[in-house]
Amino acid sequence: MHSQPLPLQCSVKEFYTLADLQNWDATTEVDKPIRLGVFGDRVEHSRSPEMQNAALSACGLPMHYARFQIRAEELETALKLLPKVNFIGVNLTTPHKIPSVQFMDQLDGFAGSVGAVNTVRIDGGKLVGYNTDGAGFSRAIRSDFSIDLRDLRVMLFGAGGGAGRSIAMQAAIEGCERLVLVNRTREKAQQLAADLRPFFADARVAAPVPRLEAVPWEERALRFQIANTDLIVNATALGMRRSDPPLVPASLLAPHLMVYDTVYIPTQTPLLVGAAEAGARAANGISMLLHQGALAFETWFDRDAPLAEMRAAISAPQKS
Ligand code: NAP
Repeated sequence: MHSQPLPLQCSVKEFYTLADLQNWDATTEVDKPIRLGVFGDRVEHSRSPEMQNAALSACGLPMHYARFQIRAEELETALKLLPKVNFIGVNLTTPHKIPSVQFMDQLDGFAGSVGAVNTVRIDGGKLVGYNTDGAGFSRAIRSDFSIDLRDLRVMLFGAGGGAGRSIAMQAAIEGCERLVLVNRTREKAQQLAADLRPFFADARVAAPVPRLEAVPWEERALRFQIANTDLIVNATALGMRRSDPPLVPASLLAPHLMVYDTVYIPTQTPLLVGAAEAGARAANGISMLLHQGALAFETWFDRDAPLAEMRAAISAPQKS
């Protein structure tokens, strides 16, 4: 009797490492080649694979997108291996967005201005760095709150990080009414404010407050600023862990505010719970994940991303 051949299983691992990339041919015996991925530390909770694999499948592109657990000191080696292992590109997440800039052969204009890369495309063996976080954030605000960034007075926490810098640059380029930058390391917010000053030369805000400011992360300063703010954005990692302190005291949250938390795991962060209790409109970062991912897909494939399939993939309950 002949035994039936086993169907070829997709055996993409939960995550790969630098050692796997260095020994790639032996590592990847899967039904379709892995030619895309996300590099981060830690990366196991990233939802990009679900979303990008749904997009690849919807477009009939025979390849996989996988997670790569890459430490800061491994980043350069890992990036430089990508052309050799026939990758199309990767996404970069915490903590690699800013350090990766120095390892790119070329930078797209927005990524260069921001000084952070979240999407790498391999082009003729070269690493080309892009940043889709800013435009993805802008689309997310429009879809969640039905308003354009340019009509908003924005207070941004985490202005010194990769995502925060992209959001700040996008808000500046779109000419938002007002931008208040807050960061744990205040000097980074002050430097960013200095860099963005030319975008805010026109006087537009009726209130007697500057259009662009870097302010200390102190309750008194925040209370004053929030009275002249429409949208609060959390672009720090605060809210991901149960033990995290609140981003702002709940007493500062008010019904006139929109609150956007770029964090999406957990889906209801303490900031979002506090915003809802205060009567403010609130949304988590899943919409930004979707839109920055769609823009990354378009960067890799020069075609429209299948947004409905990508949205469905990340709307489904998360696999444990
Ligand atoms: P990053 O480059 O490492 O920047 C981290 C930022 O968070 C910095 O501004 C840092 O301040 C601040 N921070 C870190 N720990 C803090 C703490 N304990 N208290 C106060 N501030 C703290 O990371 P990133 O890539 O920009 O990511 C930042 C956040 O954005 C993460 O939560 C990430 O999940 C989220 N994000 C979401 C999306 C999405 O699609 N939804 C996309 C990108 C990023 P210092 O400058 O003082 O270190």
